[in-house]
Amino acid sequence: MQPIRTFNVSPSLPPQLEPLRHLAYNLHWDWNTEAKDLFRRLDRDLWESSRHNPVLMLGLISQARLKEVAEDEGFLAHMERAVRLLDDYLQEGSWYRRHRKPESQECYAYFCAEYGLVDCLPIYSGGLGVLAGDHLKAASDLGLPLVAVGLLYQEGYFAQYLNADGWQQERYPVNDFYNMPVHLERKADGSELLIEVEYPGRKVQARVWRIDVGRVKLYVLDTNIPSNNAYDQDITDELYGGDLDTRIHQEIMLGIGGIRMLKALGYKPTVYHLNEGHSGFLILERIRMLMQEEGLSFTEAKQVAQSTQIFTTHTPVSAGFDLFPADKTMHFVGHYANIYGLSREEFLALGRENPGDLGSPFSMAALALKTSSFVNGVAKLHGVVSRAMFHGLWNGLPLDEVPITSITNGVHARSCVAKSTQELYDRYLGPSWSEKGPEDPLWDKVSAIPDEELWRNHERCRSELVVFARERLVKYLRDRGASAAELAQAEEVLDPKVLTIGFARRFATYKRATLFMRDKERLEKILKANKHRRVQFVIAGKAHPKDLPGKELIRDIIHFTREEGMSHSVVFLPDYDIHVARLMVSGCDVWLNTPRRPREASGTSGMKAAMNGLPNLSILDGWWDEADYVKTGWPIGHGEEYTEDNLEYQDEVEANALYELFEQEVVPIFYDRDSEGLPRGWIAKMKDAIRLNCPFFNTARMVREYATRAYFPAGDRNFVMTQGHYAPAKGLASWKEKVSQQWYQVKVESVDVSTDSHIKVNETVSVKARLQLAGLAPEDVQVELYQGALDPHGQIVNPTTVVMEPQGKDGNQTTIYTGDVVYDSSGLQGLTLRILPKHENLSSPHELGLILWA
Ligand SMILES: *Cc1c(COP(=O)(O)O)cnc(C)c1O
Repeated sequence: MQPIRTFNVSPSLPPQLEPLRHLAYNLHWDWNTEAKDLFRRLDRDLWESSRHNPVLMLGLISQARLKEVAEDEGFLAHMERAVRLLDDYLQEGSWYRRHRKPESQECYAYFCAEYGLVDCLPIYSGGLGVLAGDHLKAASDLGLPLVAVGLLYQEGYFAQYLNADGWQQERYPVNDFYNMPVHLERKADGSELLIEVEYPGRKVQARVWRIDVGRVKLYVLDTNIPSNNAYDQDITDELYGGDLDTRIHQEIMLGIGGIRMLKALGYKPTVYHLNEGHSGFLILERIRMLMQEEGLSFTEAKQVAQSTQIFTTHTPVSAGFDLFPADKTMHFVGHYANIYGLSREEFLALGRENPGDLGSPFSMAALALKTSSFVNGVAKLHGVVSRAMFHGLWNGLPLDEVPITSITNGVHARSCVAKSTQELYDRYLGPSWSEKGPEDPLWDKVSAIPDEELWRNHERCRSELVVFARERLVKYLRDRGASAAELAQAEEVLDPKVLTIGFARRFATYKRATLFMRDKERLEKILKANKHRRVQFVIAGKAHPKDLPGKELIRDIIHFTREEGMSHSVVFLPDYDIHVARLMVSGCDVWLNTPRRPREASGTSGMKAAMNGLPNLSILDGWWDEADYVKTGWPIGHGEEYTEDNLEYQDEVEANALYELFEQEVVPIFYDRDSEGLPRGWIAKMKDAIRLNCPFFNTARMVREYATRAYFPAGDRNFVMTQGHYAPAKGLASWKEKVSQQWYQVKVESVDVSTDSHIKVNETVSVKARLQLAGLAPEDVQVELYQGALDPHGQIVNPTTVVMEPQGKDGNQTTIYTGDVVYDSSGLQGLTLRILPKHENLSSPHELGLILWA
């Protein structure tokens, strides 16, 4: 039955309880423990059954209970404390203000396809979303002027349950936005704010919802409105759902719609951060606006847009990037080529890794890479992998100079550390621990935490996990109609005193969730050969709905748990989400990770575990490769990489290494107790994990790094570029055009070296070069000597560069350059010379991709 009218009924609160609404609608409650406790206190069962959704809870709670707490002085005082904490937080001074001039009118626009903020907003699928959510929380803590853009999915990511055979099934609960902590944005006249985006043959409208994340606002677009046709209503239906067409529809809405939304809301961003390439189309709309509204040419507009764009890539395999066939790309966004005055191939070249390959698809990653002035991977190793993967975009540039750097991921401490553990750190380290970096002396105080207190606290966390695991298993088994015997068994799984290994992540095959059970006999011995030294596993994670091999891994684990006597020691918790993750990373004893190096870009759940004091046990990949993996856990292997035809062998070697670590290290150290029952060696490792990993692998450090290395310089470039109605941008764009045209006529005529092939250490070698600069002036180029030791292939490695100085002209058009090199080590050394473009407003000498070697 279609209604003739619809209403949005909001909860009616007694006036004294109005502040609850204020608290409920700002996600700060997630890391303001007073507020969270308050909602739990209001109605414990509703808090749990609403998936920790205070807005839904306020709508469902009985008037009688509201009346009761409205007269409860203890409750009202608690509420006042929570509200004061929120209000103080919203107003307090900030790191940003201390580091940036107050007059700089900055705004950083952050784009991502998913956000994992709290359990009750299921608009994320995994690591990327949780990272983006943590980025917003930390940006709020630091007071950055950041505004975030995303999509509000009607169905969000799927909920997981398992059938009787252990095969993953998906359910898509429909999100009811009116009962979530999101606000609908309206215009001054009260009507919905709508934005409009062109799609082939039609326009699509979207409404705008706001999510308050502390001081940061996240705006999300929703196309499910009656003015759109049925297909378009479903554009924002499902996160990463549908086919390639759905994907391009979503990415147009995210990128182009996102830019229009910010404009409609009155934002004038100075810096744009693309978190993964899904939002890459935003550059098309920015260039269009700069051309049509500011009167810039295409190259000028592209210059301005690029100077202020930052791109973070999260994928270590090229198959992970969105690729759209050329025709499809033109069908959907080809009208931008007309606006820009570009031919089809010129336009497609913006997103082609090799523009000469006319059959190649349009890559969102290539588009983002080519139009950004700062690009980073998400761990040191991922930076190395990304430079190799995209080396082809910078022809002639040595691999280690490819302008892709890395900023290692982090996690939001106040969101992932168990409440009791936070209180312990607050007590012994002081409340600012969650934001302090590695250089802060506060971390020395970790050793002062009494062993006993740390251990008892951790044991409590483990018990909580066991209780939670039993409840969850029972609930899911009951939902699928399991037998009474199965239910009884589920009520007794796990043992709160036993060494607990945690493994939780997406079930992609490269993550090898079943590596630990490769040799089941040996595993069984480890699990329970010695009844005083037992081991148990808690496992969770979802497979992508279309990833059948991933689902098979889950089924293999479920089947293994059903083998004789296993159900007690190996448990698979269904429907992994932020809540399950938090209980696992605090309640397990060791965090296990077994990806095939180097396929884990960073990984963050291990960081969450480390922050709770857990040692990691992991393949040297992602973040763990750069951690102190000896002091704060155990490395599996030594960072070996294997070729595709050796994967079986790799599994064998690494599973054996894993078993050995269990047998020789993990189990013995855990069960080595002193007279007070404390595992002193284990506790020492826990303290090292806290002392060394907390200060670095957190989003406070990460977002400070984004701010100082990426946002501030891009903001400065924006300030420079826009002066005098974009005069510097126009200057730079026309300079680039000149350099690009002249470049192929630049020549190295001759290079004279002051000595023959034998020199002594510390001897100076003088080099004089004659260069043909064609139509360029000496100030347009940087001439460098490039020298270093030779590898067995005769290639220069670990080079150093020396800038050569121009010494005037030498008759007909050649310019003389000189420079000195001092050799400070012996052996076979090589020397060459190279020329790069130089301009004060370039973000990097490699921005044009031009380089000339002698
Ligand atoms: C932290 C987290 C992730 C990411 O974990 P990885 O170690 O990067 O796989 C995924 N999902 C949830 C719910 C998380 O909390």
